[in-house]
Amino acid sequence: MNLPPRQLIDDCFLHDKDRLRHQEAVDLLNSRLGVIVGSNELDLSKASGRILADDIIAPQNVPLHNNAAVDGYAFCMADYAINEGRFPISARIAAGDLSPEPLAKNSAARIFTGATMPKGADSVVMQEDCVIDDVDGKSYVSIPDGLKPGANWRKAGEDVKSGEKILTVGQKLRPQDIAAIASTGQARIKVWNKLRVALISTGNELLRPGTKIARGQIYDSNHFLLSALLQASCVEITDYGIIADNKEAIAGALLNAASNNDVILTTGGASRGEEDHITTVLDEIGRRHMWQMAIKPGRPMMFGQISTGDNPGDNPDKNDCLFFGLPGNPVAVMVCFLMYAQPSLAMLSGGKWKDPVRYPIPADFEIKNKKPDRREFLRGQLVKSDDGNLTVSKYQHDGSGMISSLRQAGGLIEIEENKTSVQVGEFVNFIPFSEFGIV
Ligand code: AMP
Ligand code: MG
Repeated sequence: MNLPPRQLIDDCFLHDKDRLRHQEAVDLLNSRLGVIVGSNELDLSKASGRILADDIIAPQNVPLHNNAAVDGYAFCMADYAINEGRFPISARIAAGDLSPEPLAKNSAARIFTGATMPKGADSVVMQEDCVIDDVDGKSYVSIPDGLKPGANWRKAGEDVKSGEKILTVGQKLRPQDIAAIASTGQARIKVWNKLRVALISTGNELLRPGTKIARGQIYDSNHFLLSALLQASCVEITDYGIIADNKEAIAGALLNAASNNDVILTTGGASRGEEDHITTVLDEIGRRHMWQMAIKPGRPMMFGQISTGDNPGDNPDKNDCLFFGLPGNPVAVMVCFLMYAQPSLAMLSGGKWKDPVRYPIPADFEIKNKKPDRREFLRGQLVKSDDGNLTVSKYQHDGSGMISSLRQAGGLIEIEENKTSVQVGEFVNFIPFSEFGIV
């Protein structure tokens, strides 16, 4: 495996804000993060969802040759009048026949979809439109009048021209991109290696599903939410389990995870309470760049880096592990992951920052007295009314612990900082979950 030294992540994340606004956080992450993984050659069949580490150039035309688009008869339109529409059939050309002979003057060739056009032919008529007759053991095809010259065949290079750049470094490969690469004949391609992502859940109250629950405990759903969300990011996940609300235990787990991973995602313990230790620990063993966001839910989210050198906290540098301290409530975890962590992971993996598309849809709800200066993400669902118009409804409960709100939602409704109310019928931005690859 080709693993170059990790590249320095520009650690200039300085800002002077107490609470970062959504766009400030996005701009900071988008402008500062860069690829930190090496690259490798991979079989095309394994490359779906991976990120290209090289441009893909077509070494030849696709298709390579002019070819018939239908089953029928190839002929030269200039011969049509001479033959009065009736041509002797002089050849038979099937798909895969290599280099057919040039078409004999004043004749037609039986031809099949995908077969190479013979030199001298410039049109193909569909077999359904023709009448065949035989005279003295020789076959003739009668072609109806009115066919457009140049009909029913595909030009060499009409899909892709030789030398054309069909895909660019940093693009995430979709199934159709894989097909396009295959059509140019390339079997192995260069992709960025998978980012190594550590997951840590924090909280004394947590336990994993499969064990019996006692009063005071809750199941660790965040771990499962994040591992499922990370599938769309095509990363390698390591599960560091549940860590208690204890400074030493958290520091130990973070340092351990930092030495073997590119990024750590924690959940819980990110607020200001006495049982919340993530900020203190991060300040001791690394650097905190962002903490406290002007958003709801997700205010305590933090971003930083953890040194893996001998002197934790000293000169965090190129071997640092990136750190996202996500809140504890599952709804906040999902919002923060989708809006900040997922696009950041794409950048670190050699991809591009992807802002989700916002669709303006009339609200079927009202909001009074929204706090100014923070952006709110509500769980929303599209509703089609009887007249066929779309509106968006919001989940009735605001609680960010309600996984049922995520389950019922089709996406997020984004209410920007400057808004303090929403009227029924007013356009609001709706972000379908499919924008994040959740289908
Ligand atoms: P915290 O930020 O640690 O105070 O957590 C906020 C809320 O989220 C608390 O009600 C926690 O019990 C809950 N919570 C924290 N971690 C998880 C988790 N892994 N799965 C589900 N809920 C969690
Ligand atoms: Mg907690």
